[in-house]
Amino acid sequence: MAEFDVDLFVIGGGSGGVRAARIAAGHGARVMVAEEYRMGGTCVIRGCVPKKLFVIGSHVRQELEDAAGFGWTVPSASFDWPTLIANKDKEIARLEAAYTANVEKSGAQIVKSRAVIEDKHTVRLLENDKKITARYILIATGGAPNHGAAIPGIEHVISSNEAFHLAKLPKRIVIQGGGYIALEFAGIFAGFGSDVTVIYRGDNILRGFDEDIRTHVRAEMEKQGITILTGCTVTKVERQGEGFTTHLSNGSSLASDQVMFAIGRHPNVANLGLEKAGVTINPNNGGIAVDHFSRSSVDSIYAIGDVTHRFNLTPVAIREGHAFADTVFGKREVRVDHANIPTAVFSQPEVGTVGLTETEARAQYSHVDIYKTTFRPIKATMSGRDTRVLMKLVVDGATDRVLGCHIVGDSAAEITQAVAIAVKMKATKADFDATIALHPTAAEELVTMR
Ligand code: FAD
Ligand code: NDP
Repeated sequence: MAEFDVDLFVIGGGSGGVRAARIAAGHGARVMVAEEYRMGGTCVIRGCVPKKLFVIGSHVRQELEDAAGFGWTVPSASFDWPTLIANKDKEIARLEAAYTANVEKSGAQIVKSRAVIEDKHTVRLLENDKKITARYILIATGGAPNHGAAIPGIEHVISSNEAFHLAKLPKRIVIQGGGYIALEFAGIFAGFGSDVTVIYRGDNILRGFDEDIRTHVRAEMEKQGITILTGCTVTKVERQGEGFTTHLSNGSSLASDQVMFAIGRHPNVANLGLEKAGVTINPNNGGIAVDHFSRSSVDSIYAIGDVTHRFNLTPVAIREGHAFADTVFGKREVRVDHANIPTAVFSQPEVGTVGLTETEARAQYSHVDIYKTTFRPIKATMSGRDTRVLMKLVVDGATDRVLGCHIVGDSAAEITQAVAIAVKMKATKADFDATIALHPTAAEELVTMR
């Protein structure tokens, strides 16, 4: 009889857990995955995928507006929120089924239950109170939205989770936060026609991004009619008939139909039995403390993805899950290289970035060269839209190596994915310059800036 019921028990069927389960099963391990909500996790069910579908849908407004300059007469267009939600739900259900089928095809077994850790080799399923023993346990429980301080009226505030299921499109929405989710949803709601106000506590949105990016994207969003109020926070939310009054720390107040907070996410570490098993938390970020191989303080327990609160991005969770499975079951030690991870904010316009910001580079290198351009994209010359693209390269003056690339504009995310290969390969500015431009594109600016 086998020493354990399974070789690997994965807690969480999201991006990281699913990849780890499939790869481990492929290496011959007997794998069980517990998911308490829906297979696919945050990214598929209420994150990247539905968000991107919303971004695409809301961007149609600009396409319609821009059409006139190219000779099109578009009859007055109308938008139906329930159709969008129904079609999005259909697509998410399709993806959930595909994730389920792929895990099962790999030979791993899925259990629909919350799972908690009993000891270093035992997990308990809350659905049926059954205990399962495992040689290894992988914690891939992801994260959840922060609610912030318990201000009066916090119960009226929604997070991105609820934003995907609103019964109707709010005519006016107040969004607190100046990071990824706040700006993405500001663009989404504005595109669909809502009146959007962003409330941010600091002096400029997207803290941590390159300063030029922060200034540029804010100005572009404001041009589209999004109000961005900085240096204040929400102190109270009051119900006012069908809508709400949001009170701010600067003494002003705003009327709206919806109030949303997008003020960061926390790792799902509570009530998991971590203390019982001796798994320690990283005091710096509140996630599970792990080493380079995603191993926790307990040698049979690993953790990957958002629950470790390292880089909360889907491709990172996937890479960590894959590396874990190869290391533990594939007889091949794999460390994930977390340097130069490309990332995009799907605001409108998009932000794409990889590598160091100018501020980070100047702190690390004695001589930094900056190449920067802003220009009117070719489409705007005919559509008449008041918009400019920003592209910026941060270069080490001593070695000529491109340390960072930052873009604001349509397709910034797509361009950044390709540029990230060059940055990862340590390409120099001379390599960029030696590359012949592809004309007419926006991205050609990256190889023609002098
Ligand atoms: P998750 O995908 O969160 O999966 C964890 C799973 O564990 C969940 O399904 C949960 O139900 C389950 N679970 C938790 N506890 C238990 C338990 N005790 N027992 C059983 N099951 C449990 N990233 C990008 O790269 N690009 C994007 O464009 C992007 N957009 C985003 C938009 C939004 C609105 C949000 C919220 C996030 C976005 N992200 C994006 C981040 C991305 O979704 C996460 O980084 C990614 O999903 C993390 O994967 P994970 O496997 O660590 O966790
Ligand atoms: P972010 O960390 O990106 O932004 C949080 C924002 O909320 C910041 O502006 C922060 O301000 C502000 N904030 C934090 N706490 C408070 C508070 N108590 N009161 C008021 N404001 C506060 O988190 P998000 O929630 O936007 O997204 C979570 C994570 O999910 C992202 O960091 C990212 O890793 C991932 N994600 C990735 C996406 C992508 O790849 N496109 C899209 C969506 C999410 P300050 O800067 O001053 O701290």
